[in-house]
Amino acid sequence: MERVISGIRPTGNLHLGNYFGAVKSFVKMQDEYDCMFFIADWHSLTTHPTPEDIKKSVKTILSEYLACGIDPEKAPIYVQSDVKQVLELYLYLNMNAYLGELERVTSFKEKVRKQPDNVNAGLLTYPCLMAADILVHKADKVPVGKDQEQNMEMARLFARRFNRIYRVEYFKEPASFHFADKAVKVPGLDGTGKMGKSEGNCLYLCDDEKTVTKKIMRAVTDQGPTQLNQEKPEVIQNLFTLCELLSGKEAADYYNDLYNNMQIRYGDMKKQMAADANALLAPIRERILAYSSDDALLDRIMRQGAEKAAARAEKTIEEVREIIGFRKI
Ligand code: AMP
Repeated sequence: MERVISGIRPTGNLHLGNYFGAVKSFVKMQDEYDCMFFIADWHSLTTHPTPEDIKKSVKTILSEYLACGIDPEKAPIYVQSDVKQVLELYLYLNMNAYLGELERVTSFKEKVRKQPDNVNAGLLTYPCLMAADILVHKADKVPVGKDQEQNMEMARLFARRFNRIYRVEYFKEPASFHFADKAVKVPGLDGTGKMGKSEGNCLYLCDDEKTVTKKIMRAVTDQGPTQLNQEKPEVIQNLFTLCELLSGKEAADYYNDLYNNMQIRYGDMKKQMAADANALLAPIRERILAYSSDDALLDRIMRQGAEKAAARAEKTIEEVREIIGFRKI
């Protein structure tokens, strides 16, 4: 079975965009691939979070992924910093990564622009750590968004370079898995662009029923169509996209007919969307609460995930040490 590895950024709560755009696909993937997921807490150190931030965000993201249906029996979830073998490979990859190529990475240049007072070496070598995360498991596929494509290119480059330097055919080049191409882009509740944390236009999986209803009822619309079969402006198209995701195609078609006949009442459409959003989110929310209040269970899941990941990573590290010429320890 092909191996899939995916890192999860421990930043904030999951929203509907994450759910429909990524997590739902992960839940499906765990039945089709040999999957592992990890919470990328080492990566998060580039922005210097406090110990409290780290503990809280790891627990939050773990609870939310489990609540969405990631089954640790099928797809182990581990915390990156629990698997120290990754660091050893990171060091080896750093030795073969060149300053010029690391400085040319777009996400690094962006960070330099955004946080000029905190251009640390971890930011520069981010692609080396990401490559270590992937190569340590000899992963075949990595589900990534378009923004990560360049880092994936670097991972492939580092794999090839290692093989070339040591004259081996050891690492295979991991492929990017663009599951997101097929997925819909989830629009924000403000009617513009994508739902995203930094946009303040999100429906979070942990939002309570009242909040969900309030946010949807306040979603931006217009005065309604003024002609039969009128083309929809972007805000309305976005509402219909959300409607189809939450209430299904039949419901979206029903409101589409009303729109075309100029009989649409956005309030009715939103009421149905809110009811369906709550039906979808209520069990997820309940599970989030259950997981996040059970530290012993989360601990056990993290420990078991780390054991499985470390066993696989240790095998790679033993082989890599031998290839490099180090003693067996
Ligand atoms: P982020 O939390 O922004 O790092 O997003 C993590 C992943 O969630 C992305 O790589 C996408 O696959 C998915 N995602 C986030 N926002 C959206 C959205 N509005 N529509 C579809 N997918 C999304």
